[in-house]
Amino acid sequence: MYPVFLNLQGRPILVVGGGEVAARKVLPLIECGALVRVGAPELNEALQALKAEGRIHHFEGEFQPHWLDEVFLAIAATDDVEVNRAVAEEGAARKLWVNVVDDTELTRVQVPAIVRRGPLTVAISSGGAAPVLARQLREKIEQSVDESFGRLAELLRVHRGSIRARFPHVPSRRKFMETLWPGEVGELLRASRVDAARARLIELIEAGEPEGSRRGFVSLVGAGPGDPGLLTLKGQRRLQEADVILHDRLVSREVLELARRDAQFIEVAKEAGTHHTTQEGIHALLLEHARQGKRVVRLKGGDPFIFGRGGEELEYLRAHGIAYEVVPGITAALACAAHAGIPLTHRDHAQSVRFVTAHCRNSIDALDWRALAQEKQTLAVYMGVSGLDTLRERLLAHGRAANTPAALIENGSRAEQRVIHCDLASLPETAKREAVTSPALLILGEVAALGRSLAWFGKDAAALAAPQPINTLVPLQIDMRA
Ligand code: SAH
Repeated sequence: MYPVFLNLQGRPILVVGGGEVAARKVLPLIECGALVRVGAPELNEALQALKAEGRIHHFEGEFQPHWLDEVFLAIAATDDVEVNRAVAEEGAARKLWVNVVDDTELTRVQVPAIVRRGPLTVAISSGGAAPVLARQLREKIEQSVDESFGRLAELLRVHRGSIRARFPHVPSRRKFMETLWPGEVGELLRASRVDAARARLIELIEAGEPEGSRRGFVSLVGAGPGDPGLLTLKGQRRLQEADVILHDRLVSREVLELARRDAQFIEVAKEAGTHHTTQEGIHALLLEHARQGKRVVRLKGGDPFIFGRGGEELEYLRAHGIAYEVVPGITAALACAAHAGIPLTHRDHAQSVRFVTAHCRNSIDALDWRALAQEKQTLAVYMGVSGLDTLRERLLAHGRAANTPAALIENGSRAEQRVIHCDLASLPETAKREAVTSPALLILGEVAALGRSLAWFGKDAAALAAPQPINTLVPLQIDMRA
């Protein structure tokens, strides 16, 4: 198979077939500017609509060889092998290009699986050997290439003339182009600052020289709660592009396995005895690697802006003139709630939810306990396992009911997840008896009780979610025929 891209602008194309398969072929052809003729006894709804809008011409009836007159390319997309064969044979006799959908034997032309990014198109074919693999490869490319890559291509299309004029020699032009995506123009595009990117590109073209050596860049990425399926696509792309990855201990091995193999991994665990223990140490590492022009990923468990000190790291980077971006992650409260079957808000049980931390004296005293003790509100308490005594004492003192439902979720969203249900009154004792260990999150509020019947994940789910009486009337249907 020899790959080509066809300019179909203003070219007559015949599609034989009036069903769904044919309809799927027609729209991309119209988008490429082709003059589409559809031949079939009947058209399905989508094709009828296109006909009514005057976007296709309809040859009504059984296949007629004259439908192929003037045609440049024919696509046989009927479910009748004989009709498809007739189109293929008549087309071959006229030395036309004919594609027969899903028929590797009859077809002379194959339509590839494609990935589009602006004017950039990747076409994939397995030569008919394994279309499934071609589709899987397409998914991989789809996942690993940013949308903004296409925006760069679009910018370059618009400014092609002035770039050629300013860099008439191929080697210098190539050098100029190569610096754009890793450089500031790419950075601005990845941050959706298209106007700023265009302005910077024009500046660089006028200056007539490629951007200086590659600038360092830091992506602050949320790794989610541990399940690699809960990492964002963008987070995964950044891990694939990284030169250096600074990660916390909370980040799971499965997530790290998605990163580029030859990236340098640095664990900045808050463990005693290493010089990376302090926040200052982390700042220094970020700066050191970014200044060497590297792509640095700062990978944090959950979301970097929720009890992750991400704000401090950005302040530091800004103060030192290092460019950065933030890729959010699924925070522990969302992941734990989802995997424990506890809706954080509920029309009947909670109108608001608060994310709080209560792990040390300072954070405990800084909290507004009167507000936290309000009913019909959900608290998601991070890093709270050691402070449960104080938490109970303060909430009770400010009027929260002793029987307020609570759930402790240990290793939320991971295979070893454990969910322990109790109430506010028995919270510290329950945690101690069950030996709850870090990482664990507390969900406190009326909604926590729902997890007893809505549980669906992990080893506790079956026991918890056994059918339970519910306090609404269930309409009965009784078969009276017997
Ligand atoms: N930035 C992180 C939170 C860091 S603070 C985020 O957005 O999730 C660390 C605390 O998060 C832990 O003490 C625990 O309370 C909670 N946590 C993180 N991952 C967890 C998990 N998989 N299960 C339960 N709690 C978790």
